[in-house]
Amino acid sequence: MGRLDGKVALVTGAASNPGLGRSTAERFGEEGAKVFVTDVDLPGAEATAQAIRDAGGAAAAAYQDVTDESGWDEVMAAVSETYGGLDICVNNAGIAVLVPIEQMTLEQWNRQIDVNLTSVFLGCRAAIGAMKDRGGGSIINLSSVAGLVGLQTCTAYSAAKGGVRIMGKAVAVEAARYNIRCNSVHPGVIWTNMQAQSTGANSADDLDASVMRIPLGRAGEPLDIANCILYLASDEANYVTGAEFVVDAGMTAQ
Ligand code: NAD
Repeated sequence: MGRLDGKVALVTGAASNPGLGRSTAERFGEEGAKVFVTDVDLPGAEATAQAIRDAGGAAAAAYQDVTDESGWDEVMAAVSETYGGLDICVNNAGIAVLVPIEQMTLEQWNRQIDVNLTSVFLGCRAAIGAMKDRGGGSIINLSSVAGLVGLQTCTAYSAAKGGVRIMGKAVAVEAARYNIRCNSVHPGVIWTNMQAQSTGANSADDLDASVMRIPLGRAGEPLDIANCILYLASDEANYVTGAEFVVDAGMTAQ
C-alpha cells in the first residue's frame, strides 16, 4: 500500500535531473500517486513522466511556464481531464540569479519575483480552485533557507523565497475552511542543476561544506527534500498546515 494511493499530484519544474521536482515526482509515483509533471523544458518533463511509468507508476507531462496566468488554467484543465481532479500541488519551479545588489538590474529583480513568488501565488490560487470541491488537498511550496536568513547575492531570491514562506501561511489560514493544507519547505544546499549552475561546481563533493557552514558536513541529495515533501503531501500530515519545514543539515540552526 502506497502512502499516496488514490491521490493526484501536480509537480511544477519537474524536468531538471538532478532536480528537486523530478525527485519528488518520482517519489510520489513510487507511493502510488498519479503524477502530472510540468516544466518549460517539455522533453525533460516527459523524461520524468517516462521514468515514473518505467518504475510502474502513473504519470503525464505538459509544457508550463509557471509565470503565465492563463497557462495555469490550461494545466488544471489537463490534470482534471487526465486524472479527474487534484489532491496535491507542489510549487517547485524556480530560478536562482545570484547577483550582488549593486549590480542587480530591475529586470533581474522582476524576473526572480515573477518566477519564484508570483508563480507560487498563481499556483496556490489554481490549486485551491481545483481542490476545494474534493474535500481538501495539500499544497507544498518550495522556499529556501534564503527565505529565512540573509545570504550574499540573494537580495531578489531571498525576497521571493521569504514571500513564499509568509504567503503560504496566509494561504493556509484562508484555505483551511476547505480542508486544504499549505506548507513551505526550506532546503539548504542540495545537489541539483540549479546548485551546479549557481556554484560552478562539478559535483556535490566539490562543494566545501565548511565554507558553506553546513553542520552535517555535506550537500544534500534531492531525495532528502522529496521525502519531506512526501510527508506533507500524505495523510500523515493531516494536522499540519501553515508550517515551514527546514531541511538544511543545520545551516540555519547556527
Ligand atoms: P533546478 O534548476 O535543478 O530545477 C528547476 C526546474 O524549474 C527546471 O527544470 C526548470 O526548467 C524549471 N523552471 C524554471 N523556470 C520555470 C518556469 N518559468 N516555468 C516552469 N518551470 C520552470 O532547481 P532545483 O535545485 O531542483 O530547485 C527546485 C526548487 O527548490 C526551486 O524553487 C529552488 O529555488 C528551490 N531550492 C533549491 C535549493 C537547492 O539547493 N537545490 C535550495 C533551496 C531552494
